[in-house]
Amino acid sequence: TIGLLALDANGDLAGACTTSGAAYKMHGRVGDSPIIGAGLYVDNEIGAATATGLGEAVVRTVGSHLVVELMRQGLSPEKACQKAVERIMVKQKNVKDLQVGFIALNKQGEYGGYCIHRGFNYAVKDHRTSQLIDSKFKM
Ligand code: ASP
Repeated sequence: TIGLLALDANGDLAGACTTSGAAYKMHGRVGDSPIIGAGLYVDNEIGAATATGLGEAVVRTVGSHLVVELMRQGLSPEKACQKAVERIMVKQKNVKDLQVGFIALNKQGEYGGYCIHRGFNYAVKDHRTSQLIDSKFKM
């Protein structure tokens, strides 16, 4: 999945995501990416979030919506992503082969990311700089 979150000069948030789908998926399977709230959610009052990884795990927690709601409660983008990852890990018994990650951006322009396993990076670009950031990870 490629997820993109943006905050423009007027302070408006936007988001988009694609999906690569899952390997060996069942014909007709719908992942999390096309389901608003699961793979992507933007609330222009609070923040935006998008997910990558096993879509079924993200759909079960309505993951991106969860991240935005956690930011509404005052969590930083990174902490909100971490809490959503932890929620998924509680629901999934075996997370050895499970990767899920979120990135989030709030109305103030703060951002963060979190994933289950190492290996999920995100890039940040503003009008002056760009940088590649290692997402924090749980395992
Ligand atoms: N989240 C996607 C899906 O489950 C997979 C991906 O592209 O990361 O369809």
